[in-house]
Amino acid sequence: MEKQDSKPKLIGMTLAELQDVVYRGKMPKFVGKQLAEWLYDKKVSDFESMANISKKNKEWLAANYEIGRERPSRESKSADGTVKYLFNVGNGNAIESVYIPDKDRATLCVSSQVGCKMNCYFCATGKLGFKANLSAAQIMNQILSIPPAPKKGEEPMNPLTNVVFMGMGEPLDNFKEVEKVIEILTAPWGLAWSPKRITVSTVGKLPQLKELLDRTQVHVAISVHTADTAQRESMMPAQRAFPISNVMKTLSGYDFSHQRRLSLEYIMWRGVNDDIVHADMLVKLIGKIPCRVNLIRFHSIPGVDLKPCSEERMIMFRNHLNQKGITATIRASRGEDIEAACGMLAAKK
Ligand code: SF4
Repeated sequence: MEKQDSKPKLIGMTLAELQDVVYRGKMPKFVGKQLAEWLYDKKVSDFESMANISKKNKEWLAANYEIGRERPSRESKSADGTVKYLFNVGNGNAIESVYIPDKDRATLCVSSQVGCKMNCYFCATGKLGFKANLSAAQIMNQILSIPPAPKKGEEPMNPLTNVVFMGMGEPLDNFKEVEKVIEILTAPWGLAWSPKRITVSTVGKLPQLKELLDRTQVHVAISVHTADTAQRESMMPAQRAFPISNVMKTLSGYDFSHQRRLSLEYIMWRGVNDDIVHADMLVKLIGKIPCRVNLIRFHSIPGVDLKPCSEERMIMFRNHLNQKGITATIRASRGEDIEAACGMLAAKK
């Protein structure tokens, strides 16, 4: 049975908000910091475990709030080690997160919305339409609950080293909550991660892209997919409101030559955007902006007549970009057998 939202959730709250909670409960201010430590550093999922908080205070907290930790309701494992998790998020809605292990790293691809408003032609999430924004608590729950504790006899999975906002939804269309999550991930009272461990992927939604660039230091990935503006508009309706030339102009005002990384995502479709002409248009669009291009294999989805282009064509495209002085790599495809690869997330129950 689906759990109904009742009390406010503590995960997803900043230190200032937790201090507000303890103030309301007439507790000393330092309890706010203790609470943050239990939630984000020790990652406890019940009030009982909060050893240095008094019984009376724990009872008050439990009566008025919930921690907000929910286990995934289903998991599917890929032959390549990728694991897709389904979370119920209320009102009959579900979202997916994808755990991608790679040697000593483990990246979690998180969702920021149920469905998406951007309606990109090639994307399974876009086909769902928009249902709801996820709260910071619902995004944090994905990060705190994965990987789940191992079952008896199971090897523990590597803890998360990176988070990418590349799951369901356009993160900058839910910027307030996403920004809060970035704060919790990077603050000393939160998970104390370096912003270099976080990447936000966007179609280039302005002005929120500028706010993200100004107010955080996280890496940015822009879904370009084609530098031909008419073609981009037909594939990505967002091109109309946020032309890629404006997005690149905004990006050109920031420093991506040191710590912060800019990647341009480019899904390759056979006979659509895989020609040398398209590579040259991309080179022109990039100009002098330091970035890397990720060439992504397309994964067919029902009802979409696009086809993946051949490996040879991808290599030719990559080599051409490299010759023009642009770092380009063909991104290894992960989790296709469980519909967890790029553009395939549709939270089918
Ligand atoms: S590709 Fe991203 S922005 Fe476009 S519809 Fe899918 S989830 Fe939304």
